Amino acid sequence: MSKPDTAGDRESVLECTDCLDPADAFALIANDARLSILEALWAADESPVSFSTLRREVGMRDSAQFNYHLQKLTGHFVTQQADGYAFKHAGEKVVRSVIAGSFNEHPSIDPFPVAGRCVDCGSSLTASYEDERLAITCVDCGHGHGEYAFPPGGLTDRTRAEIADAFDQRVRHLHCLAADGVCPECSGRMETHIVEDDDCCLGVSLRVDHECRQCAHTLCSAAGLRLLDHSAVVSFHRERGVSLEERPYWTLPWCVADEFTRLVSRDPLELEVRIPLAGDELRVTMNGDLDVLETRTVDD
Ligand SMILES: [Zn+2]
Ligand SMILES: [Zn+2]
Repeated sequence: MSKPDTAGDRESVLECTDCLDPADAFALIANDARLSILEALWAADESPVSFSTLRREVGMRDSAQFNYHLQKLTGHFVTQQADGYAFKHAGEKVVRSVIAGSFNEHPSIDPFPVAGRCVDCGSSLTASYEDERLAITCVDCGHGHGEYAFPPGGLTDRTRAEIADAFDQRVRHLHCLAADGVCPECSGRMETHIVEDDDCCLGVSLRVDHECRQCAHTLCSAAGLRLLDHSAVVSFHRERGVSLEERPYWTLPWCVADEFTRLVSRDPLELEVRIPLAGDELRVTMNGDLDVLETRTVDD
């Protein structure tokens, strides 16, 4: 994995003369007219959007007043180009967060059964949704099979099976980004730490913590999650008739249970994940950054 680390990158951040204090940024958009402008930009078929089109969509007659609000947004949330106005990243984020919440402001959904069996006791699994987080848990022993933020917009217009599938996809993608060193929230630099801890949401005692240096966003996972799209792991399964893409991560014991991951060495840090399947076993060695060092197949 390439991990760009040049002084130049840091300087450009440190030299940011244009950065807005968060409180000032919120003050700028705490205004119905400005939120309407951001929403109109978001809903537009094309980008950039001309001044007159944008004003018509927002429905504000007074051109000077419209221009006043538009100029307040320009620079931090909106960029002015030769032929109109377009989003900057922060502007699009604002609209997306408004939309993600407003589809379903106080969503509640009863726990529902999901595919797979508890890796600990073999009982059935249930998905529950609370505080905008979805958790997969064993109905009998309570063993956790992952709990992660899932925005309420994700519940809209989906059956329960589709919600479970969307959650699976989301968890895979978030962890893929995090393990590659990119924060899924702010794209800042993410660090990976291997932690030995018995008290983890996943019920594993050797877990992986990803933490963003910029926004402090954290993600906790089992080391196996890193391997879901590794070519050797994918082909090991494909050769034995299993498509990893079609299996929710929580049905793969090496993604959610402790006993398949062990520390091989502390210095340098190395860990091994065992993946048993159809009488064979794939053993994957990774370093502390979760880069794969070696894979080998052993017969039972
Ligand atoms: Zn259980
Ligand atoms: Zn971040």
